[in-house]
Amino acid sequence: MLEKCCAVNLEQAMIDAPVLPAGISFFQRGWLSSNNVLLQDDEQAVLIDSGYWTHAQQTTDLVVHALRGAPLTRLLNTHLHSDHCGGNAQLQLVYPQLQTLVPPGHADFVFDWDPAALTYTPTGQHCPQFIATDVVQPGDRFAVSNREWVALAAPGHDPNSIILFCDELGILISADALWENGFGVVFPEIEGIEAFDEVSETLHVIETLNAKVVLPGHGGMFTDVYLALENARSRLSSFRKDPVKHANYAAKVMLKFKLLELQRISLADFLLWAEGCDYLRLLQTRYAPSLAFGDWALSMCEALEKSGAVRRDGHVLINV
Ligand SMILES: [Zn+2]
Repeated sequence: MLEKCCAVNLEQAMIDAPVLPAGISFFQRGWLSSNNVLLQDDEQAVLIDSGYWTHAQQTTDLVVHALRGAPLTRLLNTHLHSDHCGGNAQLQLVYPQLQTLVPPGHADFVFDWDPAALTYTPTGQHCPQFIATDVVQPGDRFAVSNREWVALAAPGHDPNSIILFCDELGILISADALWENGFGVVFPEIEGIEAFDEVSETLHVIETLNAKVVLPGHGGMFTDVYLALENARSRLSSFRKDPVKHANYAAKVMLKFKLLELQRISLADFLLWAEGCDYLRLLQTRYAPSLAFGDWALSMCEALEKSGAVRRDGHVLINV
């Protein structure tokens, strides 16, 4: 998927946009980077999320190309996961006047940069340090092209995540709260904090919006919101019934994410990296205490291989 993303041609990346009104661009990225949404009018340009740091140049190219010389005035992060704000630092270099808004909750950890509290260290991911100029609160409103967008709280995948909705257009920017086929790992659950109820409440909030088009944090945009909600609820219910299923899903997502970044690594080095990852150790301790960490991590790699997400060539793991 990384190759697909890196090879993306700028014009190609824009072809998803024609169904959207003028002034709204949706950049669908590979799964390592979150998608980005660009809202612009004659006075301003607002970018929602900036992808993973290894793709920061591609994010910048997409934005520069779409703005045709106009400045990016505001960057807004739906939440602070590394794949949503990894391009912030580079965009701040390119656009020194850029206002950067982050959700509350973890905003202080951006002001006094704390990569552990921001989950970059425990997930074994990286995010170049950036500066937040302000906080976007649930209920905040802003207008682009005279169309109002409202920020709504969307806890679950991340306790402080926001989503953005434009009632006039029926467009929802759903971050990782709702994808066409599911939603993001419920990270608080990894730390033993119950959050499945919050996922459910957020899905309910989304349902009440009656959105016509959803621009998700990953995957393609979609219009069948009812079906997506049904899929998400069925997935949530299977996680509730069997929390180990969610734990294994979380572990495989984190391992696959790293492989998307590295592309290939020896199995021994990969297991060593995994052992230094607090969240993976937490998952093993909590959900597979009878297994040694190495055996558990190996079983997760084998599950990824079985599903075709990873290929093994001798002692080397290769991203597929
Ligand atoms: Zn996320």
